[in-house]
Amino acid sequence: MAQLDLSEILDTVPYAVFIKDSQHRWVYGNAAFRELIGDDFLGKDDRDLFGEEQVQVFWREDARVFAGEESLNEEEIGENRFAITKKVPFKLPDGTTGLLGIIIDYIATSSGELDKKVPAVDLGGFEPQMTALKRRLEEALREKNLAIEVAYTDAATGLRNRHGLEADLARQIAVADQTGRPFALALLDLDNFKRINDRFGHAAGDEVLKVIGRRLKEIPSVISVGRIGGDEFAIITEKIDQTDEARNERLERLRQIIFRPIFAGDRELQISGSAGVCIYPADASTGSELLSRADMALFSAKRSDQFSAKIFDSATLVAYQRRIQIEEKLPEAIRNGDIVPVYQPIVSSTTRRAVGVEVLARWRNEDLGLVSPDEFISTATDIGVIGKLDRAIFSQAMHDTRAWLENGQIDFVSLNASPMDVVSPGYAADFLRRLKEAGISPDHICLEILESSIVEDVSSARRNLGKLRDAGVEIALDDYGTGYSNLRALLDMPLDKLKIDKSLVWGIEKDDKVLDLVISLVQLGRALELTTVAEGVETNAQSAFIEGAGCPELQGYLFCKPQSRAALDEWFATQAPAAEGSGESLKSPV
Ligand code: C2E
Ligand code: CA
Ligand code: CA
Repeated sequence: MAQLDLSEILDTVPYAVFIKDSQHRWVYGNAAFRELIGDDFLGKDDRDLFGEEQVQVFWREDARVFAGEESLNEEEIGENRFAITKKVPFKLPDGTTGLLGIIIDYIATSSGELDKKVPAVDLGGFEPQMTALKRRLEEALREKNLAIEVAYTDAATGLRNRHGLEADLARQIAVADQTGRPFALALLDLDNFKRINDRFGHAAGDEVLKVIGRRLKEIPSVISVGRIGGDEFAIITEKIDQTDEARNERLERLRQIIFRPIFAGDRELQISGSAGVCIYPADASTGSELLSRADMALFSAKRSDQFSAKIFDSATLVAYQRRIQIEEKLPEAIRNGDIVPVYQPIVSSTTRRAVGVEVLARWRNEDLGLVSPDEFISTATDIGVIGKLDRAIFSQAMHDTRAWLENGQIDFVSLNASPMDVVSPGYAADFLRRLKEAGISPDHICLEILESSIVEDVSSARRNLGKLRDAGVEIALDDYGTGYSNLRALLDMPLDKLKIDKSLVWGIEKDDKVLDLVISLVQLGRALELTTVAEGVETNAQSAFIEGAGCPELQGYLFCKPQSRAALDEWFATQAPAAEGSGESLKSPV
C-alpha cells in the first residue's frame, strides 16, 4: 500500500495548519494557510505581514505557547478579516520548541466570498483532533518520513541551512535598518575537511561539523549560525567592533575556535580554515550582496596557507574583480604569446659568474598592467591552462637561450614545472620530445619542482622524474625548507638540487635559528650528494652567510634581477670574462 503523505493530506483539510520555530518564523504551512497568507512565507514571520502593534500581540501569545501553554484567540488579521487561531507547543526536530497553529476559520466580510463565519467559538470536538495532529506531525518530523520538512534547518548540525541563513540575513537587515546598528556576516571555510572525511570516515566528518557548529554558537553576540555548504559555515554576529584591535581579537577568537583539537572517537583531529567578513550596511546593501562579498573576502583569505581571516574592504572587491579578469583574459594571452619568459642568472658562489638561468614567466596586459606570476600561475592552475602556459614559455625559452648555451655563457636552463604536470602520465615523454624538437640536449636542462607535487602522488612523480633524469635532465626541489619537508619522500626522489627558499635566505640576518637551519639544509644536501642553490639573495651579508655555509650556487637581485633576453645579453657583456679578454669586447658574444 502506498504510504500516505501527510503533507498531501493536510493540503486537503479546510483549515489552515502552520508550524512556527522558536523565533516566530513559519517553517511549514498547508494549502489553506498559503491561501490565507500567500506562498512566500517560509522563514518569514508576522512582521513581514502585519503592523508592529499586531505583531506584539501575536508574539506575546507565541511566547506563552513556547513556554508550554496553549492559546486560543480571535484576531483581526487584516481589514475585516478575522482568524480564530489555536496554538499549541510543538517540538521541532532540532530539539527546540516551536508551535503548531490551526486557524479554524476566517471571515472576509468585504468580499463576501469567504463568509463561513463561525461564532467565536466552542471548539468542542476539535480539541482531540488537534492533539492527534500534533502527535502525528511531531512523529513524522522526528522520523523524517514526511514531505513536510522544516525548511530552514540543517539536519547534520541542527544549525540553519542556506535558506534559513538567508532568511535570518533578511531579518537582520530589517532590524539594522530600524535600529541603525550594523552587524557582520562571516563565512568560514574548513581547509582539510575532505581529507578528514576520506581518511577517518563520514562519522568523524559529521562530528567535526557538529563540534564546530556548537563552538560557533557559543561565541558571544552571535545572532545566527548556519551551515551553508559542505564545510562552509556562516555566522551573523551582533555589534561591530570599531577598532582594528577589537576586530583582530575577534578574528583570533575565531581562529582558536577552529584550531582547538576535536576529538572524534579516539582520534584527535586538527582543523584549519579561513574566514571572510563583511559588514552591513558599510560593505553591502542586500543579503545576497553580503554573501557574495563575504565570499570574496573568504576567497582572498584562502590564498594564504594556514588559517587566515579577511575583512571585506574595497581592496577585496578590486582584487576579486581583477582575478575574474585574469581568468577571462589568460587563455587568450597564452594563445597570443603575450606571456613571455624573462631570465634570472644563477651564479657560482666562488666565481660569481653565471652557471645557469632560471626561466620566469611575465605577463603585461593593456588593462591589467603587469600581472605577477603569483597571480596568474595560480589562476592558470585553477582553470586548467597551466600546462599550456608552461609549454608556451618552454618553446620561447628554448629559442632565447640557445645562443647562451652554445657560447658557454651558461651550462643550464632551469624551468619551473607545475605540480599538476609532474604527476600526469606521459609528462616525461612529452617533455623530452619537445626538447628534441628544439634541438637542445637534456644535459642542459634543469627542472624545478615543488614538494607539493611529490606528496600529491609519489609514484607518478617518481616515474616521470626518473625518466627525465635518466635522459640527463637535472631535477631541483624548489622552495625547499618551507613545505612538508618529508625527508623520506625526499630520499626516494630522483633529485640533483635543492633550492633553499628565499624566505629562509631573508631570515638569516635576523634570526640565528634560521641561519642554523640553512646551514643544516646545505649539509643535508651535501650528505645526499645534491647541489644546493640559495634563491632571493639581496644583500652582501646574506651572500656571505650563505657562502660560509658552503652553498655552491646563488641567485637573487644582488647579482641580477630577472631580465629579458636582450637585457641579459648586456648583463653577460658586463660580466668579468672568465679568464682572459676584456668584458667590453664581448658586447655581442654571438
Ligand atoms: P620561484 O620559482 O620560487 O621563483 C623565484 C621568484 O623569486 C621569482 O618570482 C623571482 O623573480 C623572485 N626573486 C628572485 N630573486 C629575488 C630577490 O633577490 N628578491 C626578491 N624579492 N625576489 C626574487 P616571480 O618571477 O614573481 O615568480 C613567482 C613564482 O611563480 C615562481 O617562484 C614560480 O613558482 C612561479 N613561476 C614563474 N614563472 C613560471 C612558469 O613559467 N611556470 C610555472 N609553472 N611557474 C612559474
Ligand atoms: Ca623556481
Ligand atoms: Ca623558489
